[in-house]
Amino acid sequence: MRIDKLLSNTGYGTRKEVKKLLKSGAVKVDETVIKDAKKQVDPSGHIVTVYGEIVRYKEFVYLMMNKPPGYISATEDATQQTVLDILEPEDAVLKPFPVGRLDKDTEGLLLLTNDGQLAHQLLSPKKHVPKTYFAIIDGLVTDSDVKAFKEGVLLDDGYMTKPAILKILKGENQSEIEVTISEGKYHQVKRMFEAVRKKVVYLKRISMGNLVLHEDLELGEYRELTDEEVDILR
Ligand code: URA
Repeated sequence: MRIDKLLSNTGYGTRKEVKKLLKSGAVKVDETVIKDAKKQVDPSGHIVTVYGEIVRYKEFVYLMMNKPPGYISATEDATQQTVLDILEPEDAVLKPFPVGRLDKDTEGLLLLTNDGQLAHQLLSPKKHVPKTYFAIIDGLVTDSDVKAFKEGVLLDDGYMTKPAILKILKGENQSEIEVTISEGKYHQVKRMFEAVRKKVVYLKRISMGNLVLHEDLELGEYRELTDEEVDILR
């Protein structure tokens, strides 16, 4: 790739700023000063430095975020805060995007990546990637709701959901449940409970495929996936 693209993708400024940096002689490839912004480099086979500091180039970034409420799962919005606003500049520069959406008030596991192929794979309806949520429901969730979720419920738009696994963790005036769905319709969990005349008052995603939200991550915190975690998602 071009050296100016490599440097701007790794946080050394805009293309214009990077051009100045190159002109100043601060950039070396394998100890040779490079001033030409168009110079092609292979970052995996050569050592690129800026003022002697090695440029760490990664093509893809994979982040696990514990999404806090109040943020929308989008890359930009004119009025509302997006999950990208949470990222440190050095992560944002790689332009990750959220894989799928969580509602503004939903918390929990959100994967962000710039690996379009993996994102597509995880979101493809054909793959049926299971997603598990913890939820608090107003009212008593019963075994007949468990049965209804297993058989599929009719959403407000006439769509019949695929079988979902509903587990009652605590069934009282307010119930605590875990539900696993393998599709991703708009507001799906909330609308499934509406279909059995109940209201979700709290929703948190705890897993997506084999990827489980790390319990040490506080709301609004995120970390890079380990290589093993990336592998199990594929
Ligand atoms: N289902 C919902 O209703 N909301 C979410 O954010 C995710 C799944």
